[in-house]
Amino acid sequence: MPHNILVIEDEPTLSRLLTYNLTQEGYAVDTADNGGDGLLAASGRKYDLIVLDIMLPGLNGFEVLTKLRQQGDRTPIIILTARNAENDVVQGLKLGADDYMTKPFGVAELLARVSAVLRRSGSGDGGAPSEEAAQEKVIAVGGLTIYPEKYEVSIGGETIELRPKEFEVLLYLVQRPGMVVTRDDLMNVVWGFDYVGGQRTVDVHVSSLRKKLEMNQQSVQIDSIRGVGYKLVIGKK
Ligand code: CA
Repeated sequence: MPHNILVIEDEPTLSRLLTYNLTQEGYAVDTADNGGDGLLAASGRKYDLIVLDIMLPGLNGFEVLTKLRQQGDRTPIIILTARNAENDVVQGLKLGADDYMTKPFGVAELLARVSAVLRRSGSGDGGAPSEEAAQEKVIAVGGLTIYPEKYEVSIGGETIELRPKEFEVLLYLVQRPGMVVTRDDLMNVVWGFDYVGGQRTVDVHVSSLRKKLEMNQQSVQIDSIRGVGYKLVIGKK
């Protein structure tokens, strides 16, 4: 049974991006684009997790959060706050949110938070964490061992030091071996769809990641596809 996630977000581009990536991860996703519909959806059925934007038309995220907690609903909630809104984070956590993401954010980081919050909550059933939930997800590819929830990569037991964004780039490429991934994809997933730093940021991180991989082993490499993006190749010298 997949975990059910409700996304309450009025920005269509972000809502679609979240839905797409959460679905790819194997979650079942419902969406609402305003606070009232979101509250109705959350009250109407049991979700394992809710992603809740704060700035919403109708009821805002704080009001939705307050009403749900007043109803005794303990569903884990990750709130999405605007940049430079530290007070919103504090207020959200006080009102009973479990975690938060500040916009702009990369979907990769949100996916890691979703997985961590679900694990902490014992899949949202209020009971002890199931064995499956407690078991850590590990990806083994071309001699690399990747621990998505710990942001760690190792080769033969040796940890490779990666920056968080380098890790997220690697994780995204590793999940799509042999496929061309565009700079735009990486930008959206790792840095956030409204990130303003430019594609040069992607190139800098990929080139640093590539060097670290090359220093440690040769069976996984990142090829540049000129004018398009990158491709992870396994087993090539
Ligand atoms: Ca909004």
